[in-house]
Amino acid sequence: MGLLDKLRHGLARTAQQLANRFDDLVKRADGPETRGRGVDAETAEALEEILITADVGVAATQQIVSGVKARARHGESLRELVKQEILRVLDAPSAPVASHVRPQVMLVVGVNGTGKTTTVGKLANQLKREGRVPLICAADTFRAAAVDQLQVWADRAGVDLVRAREGSDPAAVVYDAVSAGKARQRDVVLVDTAGRLHTRTNLMNELEKIRRITAREVAGAPHEVLLVLDATVGQNGLAQAREFTNVAGVTGIVLTKLDGTAKGGIAVAIAHDLKLPIRYVGVGEGIDDLLPFSSREYVEALFQEPR
Ligand code: GDP
Repeated sequence: MGLLDKLRHGLARTAQQLANRFDDLVKRADGPETRGRGVDAETAEALEEILITADVGVAATQQIVSGVKARARHGESLRELVKQEILRVLDAPSAPVASHVRPQVMLVVGVNGTGKTTTVGKLANQLKREGRVPLICAADTFRAAAVDQLQVWADRAGVDLVRAREGSDPAAVVYDAVSAGKARQRDVVLVDTAGRLHTRTNLMNELEKIRRITAREVAGAPHEVLLVLDATVGQNGLAQAREFTNVAGVTGIVLTKLDGTAKGGIAVAIAHDLKLPIRYVGVGEGIDDLLPFSSREYVEALFQEPR
C-alpha cells in the first residue's frame, strides 16, 4: 500500500462520518442556484456541527467557518473552501528548523498508553528508511516491560538500543546513549522518556534534566521533542498535552491511533490550540504504520470525493 492509501485507510472512519453529512451540505451549497452566493446561516451552522462532531474543536471550527464565510462569494465550491481553511490552520505552526549536527537528538515524550513505545519503534524504522540511522535510548527506566518491548522493536527495525538497569538514573542512560551515538556515528539518538513518575513534578524535573544533559553533549540538542498523543482520547488529550508543552519544550506532535477513531479532526484542533505542527501520524499497529504528516494529503483523505 502506498503512503496516501495508508492514510486514506487510516482516516476512513473519520472521512466516512464527515462524508455522510458534508456531501449533502456541499450538494446544496454548490448547486446552480446557490454556488458563489455566500454561506447562509443554516449552512454555516451545519458546517460548524459537522466539524465539531469530527473533533476539530470549537476554536478551530470557528476560525474555519468564518474563513469560509468571508471567501464564499468568489464562486469557489464549499468543498474547496473548507479544505483550504483547514489547510490554513494545519500549516500555521512551523516545523523546527533542520539542523545538520550529528547526532540529532530527538526526545519522545507523552503519557503511558498513548502508543509511545510503539511510536519510537516505528520512528526508528521510518528514520532508517529515510537514510538516517538512529540509535534508540530507553530512558523509561521505571517500566522494565516497556524496555523489553522497545528491544523487540529495535530488533525489528535493525537498530541499536541503549538501556540501563531497572531503576537507574534516566539521565545517565541518556548520557550513555548520546556518547554511543557519537562514537558509532549515528544520525539520530531517539530517546524514549518516562510517561509517568510518582509525581508530575518528578516527571517534569526528569525531562528537564534529560534536556540539560543532551544540550551539554550536542550543540542545539534536543533538536526535536515529539509529544505522542492518542487520537482516540479526543479533546481530553489536549489538556494533558498543554502540561507537556509548557515544560518539555515540545516542537511537534505524533498523533497515534488515527485508524481507531471517527474523530480524526483532532489533528486540526491540535494544530490550532497547541500551535504545534503534526509531524507524524500512526495508522495501525505495524512497524510501517507511521506516516510523515502531510497537511495536504490529510485534507484530501478527509474529504475524499464521493465515488
Ligand atoms: P505506551 O504505553 O505509550 O508506550 O503504549 P504502547 O506503545 O505500548 O501502545 C499501546 C497500544 O496502542 C498497543 O496495543 C499498540 O499496538 C497500540 N497502538 C500504538 N499506535 C497505534 C496506532 O497508530 N494505531 C493502532 N490501531 N494502535 C496503536
